[in-house]
Amino acid sequence: MPLLEVENLLKAYTGPDGSRHGVVDIPGFVMGEGEAVALAGPSGSGKTTFLHLVAGILAADSGRVRIDGSDLAGMAEHERDRFRARHVGYIFQTFNLLQGFTCMENVLLGMSFGHGMDRGRAEALLRRVGLGERLHHYPRQLSTGQQQRVAVARALAGKPRIVLADEPTGNLDPHHAQEALALIREACAENGSALLLVSHDRDILARFGHVASLLEINRACAGVARPNTR
Ligand code: ADP
Ligand code: MG
Repeated sequence: MPLLEVENLLKAYTGPDGSRHGVVDIPGFVMGEGEAVALAGPSGSGKTTFLHLVAGILAADSGRVRIDGSDLAGMAEHERDRFRARHVGYIFQTFNLLQGFTCMENVLLGMSFGHGMDRGRAEALLRRVGLGERLHHYPRQLSTGQQQRVAVARALAGKPRIVLADEPTGNLDPHHAQEALALIREACAENGSALLLVSHDRDILARFGHVASLLEINRACAGVARPNTR
């Protein structure tokens, strides 16, 4: 059984004039256990919407999103929230750390909605991402790259089956972007978590053996401008 199985997934938004705009129309997408896949696509191709649907942050209009056989599309919002807390890690482009809480507290809070808080594991994860000396610092006391590493530790806190990363290196310079990507991939591998990472950065995509293109798998992309390919 595949780890992630997407079938006939549809999502449309209603515009200001009441018209409907299809944003995601994906007949099929599959990932195996522990696999690392990059999803390419220009701005507006539905990358964030797709990841939100896979994470259950957004509800699909129709179709199936199965993780380990459980269909998120058939769940109520509170069930999706619970499922996500236990099985899915999410790394946001802008990190979404809670500013009023320390690194440790951010990771512990990430655990609290899932399998429960584990101080030992939270500390070990923060040490793993190189923040052993910053456990009790607040996000504003960290560099951008360090904040991103807290987000990586938090995403892995609940031992997720899959980590979804939305342009996780988009706010980093090229050197730190490659460093962050290596860390995300190693940390996911160590935790046995599959990784689905979306990006439009060629240097990042080049690091993946398995790259899928939203322009190819998302039929709603027909009107999205294709980047210059020489
Ligand atoms: P990407 O992450 O690839 O840039 P998004 O998934 O953010 O793409 O957006 C895809 C399309 O859906 C865009 O045209 C965007 O304007 C539209 N969209 C995204 N979120 C909403 C929303 N909440 N309401 C209406 N339209 C939206
Ligand atoms: Mg996006």
